Amino acid sequence: MAEKLGITPALIVPPHLQGQVEAKLAYVDESIAAANIAPDGDRIEVSLHKKLAKSDQLILEEKVQRVVQEMAKGAIQPKVEILEDHMDRPLSYSADPMDELLSSGEVREEHTGIFTFGPLMSRLIEVFEGYFLELADEFNAQPYRFPTLISAEKLGRVQYFQSFPHSLTFATHLREDLDVIADFADHAEYEEAGLNTASDSFSRIQALLSPAVCYHLYFALADKALPGNQLAATAVGNCFRYESNNLTTLERLWNFTMREVIFVGSADYVLENREKARVHMNEVLADIGLAYRVESANDPFFVGEFRRQAAFQNAFQLKYEIRALLPFKEDTLAVGSYNYHQDFFGRNLDITLEDGSAAHTGCVAFGLERIAFAFLAQFGLDPKNWPQAIREAYG
Ligand code: AMP
Ligand code: ZN
Repeated sequence: MAEKLGITPALIVPPHLQGQVEAKLAYVDESIAAANIAPDGDRIEVSLHKKLAKSDQLILEEKVQRVVQEMAKGAIQPKVEILEDHMDRPLSYSADPMDELLSSGEVREEHTGIFTFGPLMSRLIEVFEGYFLELADEFNAQPYRFPTLISAEKLGRVQYFQSFPHSLTFATHLREDLDVIADFADHAEYEEAGLNTASDSFSRIQALLSPAVCYHLYFALADKALPGNQLAATAVGNCFRYESNNLTTLERLWNFTMREVIFVGSADYVLENREKARVHMNEVLADIGLAYRVESANDPFFVGEFRRQAAFQNAFQLKYEIRALLPFKEDTLAVGSYNYHQDFFGRNLDITLEDGSAAHTGCVAFGLERIAFAFLAQFGLDPKNWPQAIREAYG
């Protein structure tokens, strides 16, 4: 049986923060398997991989208290702004689709958080991609292709390491040293917890696996005037966010795919197009019959930056999420987001407009696996039960 540890937080965790604090507790200590906050926010139950010595238990408790303190101290519940509410659409499925997806071999888990997809998921994702490409066409967005690796130097310039250190995935290689490479070739073996290779065999980090798509565009535009003074672009790419214990179903993947439509230009240009995109998607999602809400949100900043950055995003209406209903758990899942970064990237990367000011940026981002998963959670795996628009596009 799993070891449990009950902790009374020094501060009550308010309901609106419980999910976000729980998600962060996964990163507190390697011995934590899961963490649950009681609905009243006055008790935290931590499940452990193994029993801890009293001294280690105290260290763990202190870290849990620190997370609660940093995230919840003085937190004021932000007013959730709901731009659309289509939660009451008729649906035809209420089970967890993961069971059927796994038993039919349509989805296979290669490793924690790494899944492969069969023909049904692949074709369904193609159908959604068709809708997103139509959205991109409305802005005459130009196609781009971006690499899976992303520059550590450039990510540092946009303070990514301060904002999201917990979810980074690093790329490395063996050092250019004959002895190191030969030793690796002779001895490398996967043991229970990973490769048995000494960490000094690996080079210093120059690149990471990309956590988002639009950063590549901003990096490409850095340190110069924006050609044409405004730009709409679209790209799809592999994205990586290490989500620790939260990586158990298709809801959270370590490696997922994102389609983005990206706007760079004046504040008005970016904001008008973000809103135009929302109105367009409102019609598309009505056609599909998806049950969802669009509401204000914040990014999952790490503890130290959480309160300040999340409050800032809320105050300036920088992020809205498309949250699809998951009937089997009476909860919602973000399948896409409408983002406005103000001139954050323009300033930090020195992307300038004709008048010399920093460019503003924004993006509309869809998680392809997630939208397919949410759709299957609402309509099941049998195309006969799907809304007509999707059935026809699926063929
Ligand atoms: P974000 O930039 O965080 O707004 O992400 C854009 C979209 O990517 C989200 O709305 C999700 O659909 C998807 N996404 C983000 N993180 C993950 C993840 N760990 N696994 C699967 N999809 C994700
Ligand atoms: Zn983006």
